Formats: sequence, C-alpha cells, structure tokens
Amino acid sequence: MAAKEQESRLSLKLLIDEKRNRVVAAEAHKEFVDILFSFLTLPMGTIIRVTSTGEAKNPVTIGCMNNLYHGVEKLSNENWGTELCKTIVLHPRNPLGYFCQNLKVNIDDSWSNTNYLCSRKCCLMRSWYLNLRCICGAKTNMRTTDMVNNEGAFLQKGRTMFIISDDLQIRPACPILLAQLLSNLGLSETDGIREMRVQVSKDQVICLLARSLVSESPLSDVFLPNPTKHDTKLPKPEIEITLQTTEQNEAPTLNLQVTLNKSTNKILFAKATNEFFDFLCTFLTIPIGSIIHVFQRSLGLGGCLNNLYASVEELEDKWIGSSIKSAILNPRITQYHNCKKQPLKLDELIENENLIDPRPNENFAAEPSLFIVLDNLDVKPLSSASSFLILRELKVAFSDIEEQVITVGMNEALSLLKAALTSPSSALTNGLASFLQKKKQEA
Ligand SMILES: [Zn+2]
Repeated sequence: MAAKEQESRLSLKLLIDEKRNRVVAAEAHKEFVDILFSFLTLPMGTIIRVTSTGEAKNPVTIGCMNNLYHGVEKLSNENWGTELCKTIVLHPRNPLGYFCQNLKVNIDDSWSNTNYLCSRKCCLMRSWYLNLRCICGAKTNMRTTDMVNNEGAFLQKGRTMFIISDDLQIRPACPILLAQLLSNLGLSETDGIREMRVQVSKDQVICLLARSLVSESPLSDVFLPNPTKHDTKLPKPEIEITLQTTEQNEAPTLNLQVTLNKSTNKILFAKATNEFFDFLCTFLTIPIGSIIHVFQRSLGLGGCLNNLYASVEELEDKWIGSSIKSAILNPRITQYHNCKKQPLKLDELIENENLIDPRPNENFAAEPSLFIVLDNLDVKPLSSASSFLILRELKVAFSDIEEQVITVGMNEALSLLKAALTSPSSALTNGLASFLQKKKQEA
C-alpha cells in the first residue's frame, strides 16, 4: 500500500562486536533518541496494544498486565459507564502526545489535535470525542483542529550525536565515552568492531519497545539476525514487599474482599467494587515514566527502561529543556484517565479546564457493579454463573476457603502494582498476601 511505502525510516549507525555477535553501541541523532525517550510516556495499555496487534506481532508479557488488559477487553458494554470508558482504558491517550506527534516514527496513535465543540458553538466546553453532551445541552459535533508545534519532540535542536549502549544508556557522544563503553565490554581496541548502518522502520521501533521491557540487549535483539542470547528469560526473583513508608496520610483507601486458600495462604480471587475496578484500570493508563517515578526507580522491572529513565535524568539542560525533562520523568495520568479514589496518589495532567469528562460520574465501570479479579488479574463481571465456574476451576475444598477484607492504601497499592508488573501469574497473592490478617495457627 502507498502508506506503507512512504513510511518514514530513521538512519542509525551500529557498532558491532563481530566475534560475539552483539551491538556494542549505536550512534544516533536526536530523532532516534526522542523515540526511545517516548517509551517512558506510554501507558501500559498502549504498550500491550501496539506490541500485540498489527503486523509487528511482538507480544510481550509484562507480569499480569496482559491478563488485565485482555480481561478488560472481554467485558461487555453493560459493565462500563459508557462504551467510551472502555476505549479510554484500552486505548489511553498519551499525556505527552503533543510532543510525540513530532517523532520521526510514532508508534502511538492515541493523540490527536482534533477537538469537538458543541453544535451551538457556545464555546463553553470542548471534547476529545464526538457527540458528548456540552453543559449547554447540545452535542459536541463541530470538529476543530488545534495548532500543533513543529519544534521537534523532546531534545533541543541541534546535530549532536548520542551514544546508546545495548542496554539503553544514552549519553552525548564523545570518543572517551565510547572507549569506556568498549573497555567495559572487555574490548581493548577497535579491531573486530564493524560499523553497520540500518534504516529503522516502525515495526522495528515496536520491537525495540517490546524488547526494552524484557531484555538487556534490545538493540542486538532487533538488529542482529541471531543475537547471542544475553538476556535470561526473566524468572524474576520473588518480590520482597518492603516498601518505604512514603507519606501515607491522605491517600484514599479502597476495601477489597479477598478469598484465600487457608492452607497455602494463596489469594484465589477478589471481589472488587466498581471503585476498585476503576483503580485497576489505571494500571493500564499510567505512563511508564510515572510508574518508575512512583517507585523511585527501585522497581524490579526487567529489561532496561530504568537505564533509559536514568539517562533522561542525567542529561544536562543544554540537551533537554528542564520542563520537558521533568515531564518525561513523570508524565502523569492523562486528564480523565484516573480513578476517583487513587491510593497511589497520582496526579492527572490537566490539559484543559473546559474539557468535558467523557465518563458518567467520573467512573469507568458502571455504578454500582461488582467484579471478580483472579490472582492473575484476569477480571470478570460477578454473576452467579461465573461464581460457579470459578469455584469449580479452583479445585479447593470449601472448608479450606476463607474470606478477608484488605484495606488498600498507598503501600498495598504500590505492592499490588509492583506484583502486577513482575509476577507472571499471582499478582494478588504476591502483592497482597503479606497484608492479610494472620490467623491463629490451629495446633
Ligand atoms: Zn455548548
């Protein structure tokens, strides 16, 4: 197709260690580095969507997040406030989309400069979506297009070269830096290092994103035919739940009724209110940069996004404006993409005071409603049919089942988010079991 032929590509120079068949470094201008930085602006919902759809087909498994995404995807419209609520969670808008639209290769189509005013042009309110109700009563169906900047994405203008290591540490280029990088890899001279120029396609950027979440050598993985496997297929170390008590005051709390298997202390499933379900939905709408920010980089995410994050942090102001830098390091949740009671105390980025909230009563889920959340974060609407199926599938003696209520505040929420990102099948147990009330041991 024509669109495919015109697809923009980006030139990248790779330095390859021939003997070990690995990329030792890449050299690139700001356009490529901007693309890597944009990974931090992507919410988990977008990451799962772009890596598992389209032609790229590089599905990446991130803890239990995929289960959550696909569980949410299967919920029918009657479980949602409106159909649009589901769209928002599965297709969250990038809070820094205004900048990302200037990327040479943009893998995230969630942002648009199209807005809708009401048919009476009262101009009191505007909307990102067609046919919402304006406060004057008319529907938003007058399309308007905002001006966009053409100033480039994140980094300052200029033809500076950057050096990117295979595990995505990025610095402005200089020969000494490169020498250090090579010597850290045990290379004493430039012999045996081959230069290779590649034209990076959109599919390859998606691959890079997918690999950057799970591998410590995404450049080798994507650009070398059969890269030597440097990454281990992350069997993650058990997560220890020793989170610093950050200012826990004032964070809203949510009650969660969990059902556990007494003899194994495993959480089998939880019964979630619509408020708790809304909170889970924000796992898909929080940008990666804000997730790393809230964990102060202590998060045991696999891959090398922590390196990418540190690279942004360490860049001097002359390479990146300080306001853009702090925006990437904590993009915040897009307006109306947060939940009413957010135990993680995350802020929304208020883009426009006069924007219509597409959700009824600020909820994603229909209110009131109840959901069953399985240990692996798959979610289902609570109905008698699903209760029976769940009991049958659990294969646990009824006498071995107990119910408890956990109050989910900041620490519990952080622990659950961490487990959702790192535990392949037991997010509830790994995230919340340590907060269960210890029952007296029967002798
Ligand atoms: Zn109006």
